[in-house]
Amino acid sequence: MPSRSTASEARPPADPRLLARWEQYIAGTRSPAGTLVAEATTATAPALVDLFYAELLGDRRASRFLDPGQVQERLKPSLRRWLLQLLASPPAEAEALHRLQEHVGQVHARIGIPMDLVGRGMRLLKQRLYEDIRARARDQGQALEAVILVDALMDLALEAMGRSYASSRDAAAELDGSFRLFSLIQNVSTERERQRALLLSWENALLYALTAEQPGPVEPLLLSRSEFGLWFMHKGLASFGDTAETREVSQLAARIDAELRQRLPAADAAARRALLDDVRGWAGRIRHLVAMMFEGIGDLEAGRDALPRLLNRRFLPTVLRREVALQANTGRQFAVLMLDLDHFKAINDRYGHETGDRALQHVAQLLEENTRSSDYLFRYGGEEFVVVLGSVGRTEAVAIANALRRTLEQNPLPLPDGGPLPLTASIGVAVQDGPPDYARVLARADAAMYQAKRGGRNRVVVADGDLPEPPGQRALRR
Ligand code: GH3
Ligand code: MG
Ligand code: MG
Repeated sequence: MPSRSTASEARPPADPRLLARWEQYIAGTRSPAGTLVAEATTATAPALVDLFYAELLGDRRASRFLDPGQVQERLKPSLRRWLLQLLASPPAEAEALHRLQEHVGQVHARIGIPMDLVGRGMRLLKQRLYEDIRARARDQGQALEAVILVDALMDLALEAMGRSYASSRDAAAELDGSFRLFSLIQNVSTERERQRALLLSWENALLYALTAEQPGPVEPLLLSRSEFGLWFMHKGLASFGDTAETREVSQLAARIDAELRQRLPAADAAARRALLDDVRGWAGRIRHLVAMMFEGIGDLEAGRDALPRLLNRRFLPTVLRREVALQANTGRQFAVLMLDLDHFKAINDRYGHETGDRALQHVAQLLEENTRSSDYLFRYGGEEFVVVLGSVGRTEAVAIANALRRTLEQNPLPLPDGGPLPLTASIGVAVQDGPPDYARVLARADAAMYQAKRGGRNRVVVADGDLPEPPGQRALRR
């Protein structure tokens, strides 16, 4: 079985002043006013939750990351739990309550919920609770005490959330910046040549199709469908950032596809030649721009995993966050493959660690050779790999996973003395759908991989819906 660590994210110690405040108000919940708050919260929780999400769903920005089904099924129950835990039955430990708020802040940061929306929701919750408290209170003095308690607990929660939100965002921004430099493939000159060749081969395919008697359907000819187009969208933009060159490439690429769609269907032979001339002019300009983009950077080797060609897992959040945003903007799905080599410990035990290392390099190379240049390969753990497939749906993702599984099976590692060493992998596949939380798609892929192990290894399992989390689910936690 794959080893599963439950280590949690390294977090700075909580501010002792904040903890002292938490303690003070947790004690307050044990007073008569605290009982009143607990009663009011328990009684109004369903209404509070409805109010909160009605407001949030009414905000245009929130519609990017919330959908009504998910709100009903997951988010409302979870907000209800949070309210009760904070106001009705807080844990005795201040630290526990504080960490819970930090965790909520991290989730908000990961999904990208604007902090002001959270603040607004909290304000509404408070107001509604105050009304209920006023109606229930024995007298004004008790009402005031209860209101102060709610106010303090909610504010402490918001403060703790806000802190972890800000630090998560800062860390993400820093990582995004360094990722820009590191995300290029193994070396700049190889990648430049590869993309140049891919662009030319797309042009050749187009030339071939447009000079044929029957050009066929336009979709497969589009630049955005080509490997160069995919690379540019999923990696080029991330690597080079928003510059005059990348903007022009984006515009030219969009123009090429638009003109192909518009002009090709009704074009006769002469019109097709004219179209081809135009497209080749624009494509030539793209080639030039891409060459300039590559020119602007030196060879960057750092930031790569010890296994060549693979990215370090610390860049996984950046890549997944980008893919989530791309999906929200373009509707293109992406998929995550979680791949764990089977019985790898036995290989080490039998052939030694050095051979184990060579086997890992062998696998890395096979993965690299059998994925598209727009895909991302990560070393996730010792003998675990993650592949992020951009612009794929379920069927395609499963086909790619199966092809990779077969490739590993059919390409054992040749040993200098002795026969070939067979290597197989268990692969979990998850296609991003539902909430735009990248940790979830990763956790689903992980759970599917775990099922592939239990199902007998050397197989592919797809996560459909929510699989139960494997014990000690550790996606992104270590
Ligand atoms: P299965 O996944 O099929 O359940 O079995 P397994 O033996 O592969 O399971 P597990 O995940 O428990 O063990 C992984 C082993 O991979 C443990 C460790 O010895 C080995 N390993 C991890 N990283 C490296 C590495 O960088 N080099 C070598 N040689 N071995 C490694
Ligand atoms: Mg493992
Ligand atoms: Mg393993």
